Amino acid sequence: MIRYQLVCKKNHSFEGWFRDSAAYDTQAKKGLLSCPSCDSKKIAKAPMAPAVSKKGDLAEAAAKAKTMREFVLNVRKHVEENAEYVGDRFPNEARAIHYGDAEERQIYGEATLGDARELIEEGIAVAPIPSLPRADS
Ligand SMILES: [Zn+2]
Repeated sequence: MIRYQLVCKKNHSFEGWFRDSAAYDTQAKKGLLSCPSCDSKKIAKAPMAPAVSKKGDLAEAAAKAKTMREFVLNVRKHVEENAEYVGDRFPNEARAIHYGDAEERQIYGEATLGDARELIEEGIAVAPIPSLPRADS
């Protein structure tokens, strides 16, 4: 079976099912097709452009999600390769570095939102590492 989106001369669109494309051609030629809305026999296959564009949107969205995933992965990789992991000592270490009590270096670790806010208020540059978007979202 093959499904066609059909349109009459008054622009009513409807679906028609045919055994194959030849069956559609035969029925169209014999005038066996008619519009369910106005009974017009002037039927043509509707252009499939809307379906194509919808598919394109989906592909674009998927491509964007993939890029976002890669972006997040790259950020994490960069941080992990260039910074020292200090775990939950992060707020203390960040302060020590900022005030010159510890060697200046890139660090990353765990901080609560409150910790991060306090650090930022003290003028210490911290940035959250974006978490990976769920694969199924
Ligand atoms: Zn019609």
